[in-house]
Amino acid sequence: MSPKLNGTVIVTYRCNARCNMCNRYKAPSRPEEEISLETIRKLPPMYFTNITGGEPFIRTDLKEIVRELYKKSDRIVISTNGFFTDRIVDLCREFPNVGIRISIEGLEQTNNEIRGLEDGFNRGYTTLKNLREMGMKDVGFGMTVQDRNAPDLVPLYQISNEMGMEFATASLHNSFYFVESKNIIHDRPMVAQNFENLVNKLLKSNSPKKWMRAYFNHGLINYIYGQKRLLPCDMSFDTFFIDPYGDVMPCNGTKDKEVMGNLNDQTWDELWNSPEAEAVRKKVRCCDRNCWMIGSVSPAMHKYIWVPGIWVVWHKFKALIMKKPYSMYENKIVRDYRDGKVTKAELDRCSTCNLCGVTNDGLSDASREQLKHKTGEEIVDADIAAQIDVSV
Ligand code: SF4
Ligand code: SF4
Repeated sequence: MSPKLNGTVIVTYRCNARCNMCNRYKAPSRPEEEISLETIRKLPPMYFTNITGGEPFIRTDLKEIVRELYKKSDRIVISTNGFFTDRIVDLCREFPNVGIRISIEGLEQTNNEIRGLEDGFNRGYTTLKNLREMGMKDVGFGMTVQDRNAPDLVPLYQISNEMGMEFATASLHNSFYFVESKNIIHDRPMVAQNFENLVNKLLKSNSPKKWMRAYFNHGLINYIYGQKRLLPCDMSFDTFFIDPYGDVMPCNGTKDKEVMGNLNDQTWDELWNSPEAEAVRKKVRCCDRNCWMIGSVSPAMHKYIWVPGIWVVWHKFKALIMKKPYSMYENKIVRDYRDGKVTKAELDRCSTCNLCGVTNDGLSDASREQLKHKTGEEIVDADIAAQIDVSV
């Protein structure tokens, strides 16, 4: 029997938020084209499944999707912006073991400015509190760190800690998935300093999971300075993404959509063993985008466990004798930049930011066609208004 995989199911490209680091809300999928239960039934056994979007809770059949996925997945985590509190609470009543990660981009004002959702912070926070009160165990915050919200990193971690929740971090990426090519960190030392503070807090905790998170955040400092990934990227070997159109892809970090096959038209085995899938794997082997997102790093941390393991042991030892066991200057590139050996322009060139680049959206022709008549925001707003009308 082949080993279980790690899969991410992008159930929709529709989104009700207006984040400053992601233009997906401008490029929605058409509901009629979005991945069906029939296609989901064809997915392989998985040890972990992430359900994401767009905003997954825009799909009114999300419960049926989760029900189907539980037949083949050991663990499911849903990433959401937390706006649809009632829908989230309702789903969690039926699936108390599901994990929920709500993206909160900083303290109240910062979050609302970045996410562009009226009262977004309070809605997200209230949703998380409700879930906690219901006894849900696997709930937490997700934060994408940029210049604007980096000072809120540790305060937000402290809030999540007090609530006994998980705290997942990321930083800016560019790809077809985010419909963005201009994301970049400007003040790297300031952002890195905030990551350093978080790493030290995580290392001082008594939780092995948090020590591993400390390593992940150390990797984020390396990433924002545009350096080679700390661990190999094995996406498409034992990990996959599937988009709303049934296209199976290695990851969500590529500039253009890379397709291994389509699960609407093929069986899983045909697709996974196809020459197209092999060609994508060859590209992954030479990929130089050096993403550091949990989707590609978590499987690598399990696979090459001795690398974060040794790092953790060394820093836990330092934590016994030092107040601040971790310094961002452990990264040579951070020292080099401080010492003027490398310029900001040189670091900018190491990033995936391309100010003149064409931004790809990964949409089908039919989804793109609807954008000729209306904006993505208008389409999704009308769609949500219609859903609410039907439900009252
Ligand atoms: S980051 Fe998520 S919530 Fe924000 S616009 Fe993109 S898909 Fe929507
Ligand atoms: S580094 Fe890995 S996750 Fe990033 S684009 Fe390349 S293959 Fe995808």
